[in-house]
Amino acid sequence: MAECIFCKIVKGEIPSFKVYEDELVYAFLDIGPINFGHTLVIPKEHHESSATIPEETAGRMFRIGARIGVALKRELDFEAFNLHLADGTAAGQVVMHAHLHVIPRGVEDGFHW
Ligand code: 5GP
Ligand code: ZN
Repeated sequence: MAECIFCKIVKGEIPSFKVYEDELVYAFLDIGPINFGHTLVIPKEHHESSATIPEETAGRMFRIGARIGVALKRELDFEAFNLHLADGTAAGQVVMHAHLHVIPRGVEDGFHW
């Protein structure tokens, strides 16, 4: 989708700090992090909703999100992480290109869903 900011990030038309990339997914640091290391994992193909992402890509997003969460825990000394996906405006989705948040967590964050 031409005007989608996350499609532009995948194409390199908007700069991003890359965390991971393969043929199906792209992961990069969130520009407004809730916590240090907050990362977004997105399908390279444009999908507004998580429900239309093909199974292989959706599985890859989840697997890579979890692996990034484990790596952030280890490297940044966090205790845990959230995997979070907002599907639809009423659920808090602002960027209409589906994305999985990976948010490192510590007990002192005082941040809970
Ligand atoms: P949502 O509320 O849609 O689940 O989350 C969208 C996320 O995308 C937000 O956490 C926001 O900080 C992030 N974001 C929005 N625009 C950009 C951008 O241009 N670059 C990066 N790296 N993150 C962005
Ligand atoms: Zn897009």
